[in-house]
Amino acid sequence: MHYKRILLKLSGEALMGSRQYGIDPIRLAEYASEIKEVVDKGIQVAVVIGGGNIFRGVSGASNGMDRVQGDHMGMLATVINGLALQSALEDAGIQTRLQTAIKINEVAEPFIRRKAMRHLEKGRVVIFGGGTGNPYFTTDSAAVLRAIEIEADVILKGTRVDGIYTSDPEKDANATKFDKISFQDVLNKGLKVMDTTAFTLSQENELPIVVFDMNTKGNLLKLVSGENIGTEVNL
Ligand code: UDP
Repeated sequence: MHYKRILLKLSGEALMGSRQYGIDPIRLAEYASEIKEVVDKGIQVAVVIGGGNIFRGVSGASNGMDRVQGDHMGMLATVINGLALQSALEDAGIQTRLQTAIKINEVAEPFIRRKAMRHLEKGRVVIFGGGTGNPYFTTDSAAVLRAIEIEADVILKGTRVDGIYTSDPEKDANATKFDKISFQDVLNKGLKVMDTTAFTLSQENELPIVVFDMNTKGNLLKLVSGENIGTEVNL
């Protein structure tokens, strides 16, 4: 296998599937089975999940809500998604733990780095909920932070598109895909991979990011097996 320990970042919106809002149980089950395929190969899997399908702090703020209050709601939304994913993974027969950056002890473990690493070593999927626990951050930043902390080999950012393109492939028919690109080239070309805070943290810590299409069955396994899927951002 190409990687030993991965951090998979899934956006909240991805969980909507064909819905306008919330969680699509079919999509959730599909993701669980994709994750199971790689767990069964002995890969250690941590997951950071977004909350955009339920609430985003910035959209609250644009409607006059206090930004920090909205961000707290967004963080709780990621915990809701984490619980949903945990349930789907357990239905698929995978052992899991949900650890949150904000303490909700009756619901999930608090984030404890050493514990998280121990769970991974035992083959449990660890889901990190609550983002970084701080307002004004995103779950992309949480994904990079946790990946560095748990010494993951890579961040796999599952998206609707199959990689990083010269321009938005959903808008520009002439857009072409990169197989590999350096952090510096992403910045020089003004390409959008993650928000700047998350991207810089990854670059500074030399943590590679692979952007790939999580909605095509079998892609996650192909990726961890070393197939050239998606776009790798590296030094
Ligand atoms: N959030 C936050 N701090 C974090 C991570 C998330 O305040 O460390 C809040 C923020 O309001 C954000 C929301 O949670 O809008 C949902 O996360 P995100 O937008 O990253 O989800 P995604 O776009 O991946 O679905």
